[in-house]
Amino acid sequence: MTATIRVVVTGAAGRMGREMTKGLLQADDIEVVGAVDRVAAGTDIGTLNGLQPAGVSISDDLAAVIRAARPRVLVDFTVAAAALANARLAVEEGVSPVIGTTGMSTAQLDELHQLCEARQVGAVVAPNFSLGAILMMHFARQAARYFPRAEIIEMHHEQKIDAPSGTALKTAELMAGAMEAVPPLPAGEEKVPGARGGAYRGLAVHSLRLPGAIAHQEVIFGGQGQLLTIRHDTTGREAFLPGLLLAVRQVLHLKGLVYGLENLLEL
Ligand code: NAD
Repeated sequence: MTATIRVVVTGAAGRMGREMTKGLLQADDIEVVGAVDRVAAGTDIGTLNGLQPAGVSISDDLAAVIRAARPRVLVDFTVAAAALANARLAVEEGVSPVIGTTGMSTAQLDELHQLCEARQVGAVVAPNFSLGAILMMHFARQAARYFPRAEIIEMHHEQKIDAPSGTALKTAELMAGAMEAVPPLPAGEEKVPGARGGAYRGLAVHSLRLPGAIAHQEVIFGGQGQLLTIRHDTTGREAFLPGLLLAVRQVLHLKGLVYGLENLLEL
């Protein structure tokens, strides 16, 4: 029998940390051997997630957990300010970080890349673990080569402060890169300012913020006599689990940093 992959989760008491820990606890080939958070110290991670007690309690000391639990992988869903420090601790001990935390700067990513190269340790940083969202972006980039015009409509819950979403920006960037030239938006009078959306890399992007929504995006392509719509809907945080499991399994075969889940897929 092959050995299970020993994993420690940082941010284990957070929204993503809880959902991902629950999924990791239920994967046959993975063993959650440690959990770290600034809050909820002493809470069993099984009980916390509505499962049987797992015999692993949340600690606030990552270095001590790594020493005691000897994990092979660190899964991080914390805040950008903490993710690099957590990853440093891991890589120094030969543990591979899989980071879902968003907002790491280019300088932080460069540092992590160099550290991983020096230690010959694999790492994955993926701002989006949703396989569906990654495929939606991939298909949008492909279609962008064949249609003269396209617009992006993204919809999120009301609590989302920034607009457009990071996924919409990334989609527009990929599409603009694939198009020979992004045509200018058709001229016209906006009777209500902003009615035609915002333009990013020459592509119109429309952001909706509504109660009841989670995370949704449509890319609509227009050509002569036809429309093509590529749509992705996230209906729950479970959407991120298959991508995370894939990264946890693959990171052990990597040397150095891979940025973006798309680079672990055969697209
Ligand atoms: P959250 O605020 O619910 O959880 C963050 C947790 O991290 C909290 O429990 C907090 O106490 C803990 N924390 C903060 N600093 C810490 C430290 N130094 N050590 C240990 N724990 C620490 O936030 P969330 O909604 O779970 O999101 C977490 C991160 O995941 C964000 O960056 C978010 O953008 C990102 N995210 C990524 C994906 C993806 O697919 N990659 C999907 C959703 C969210």
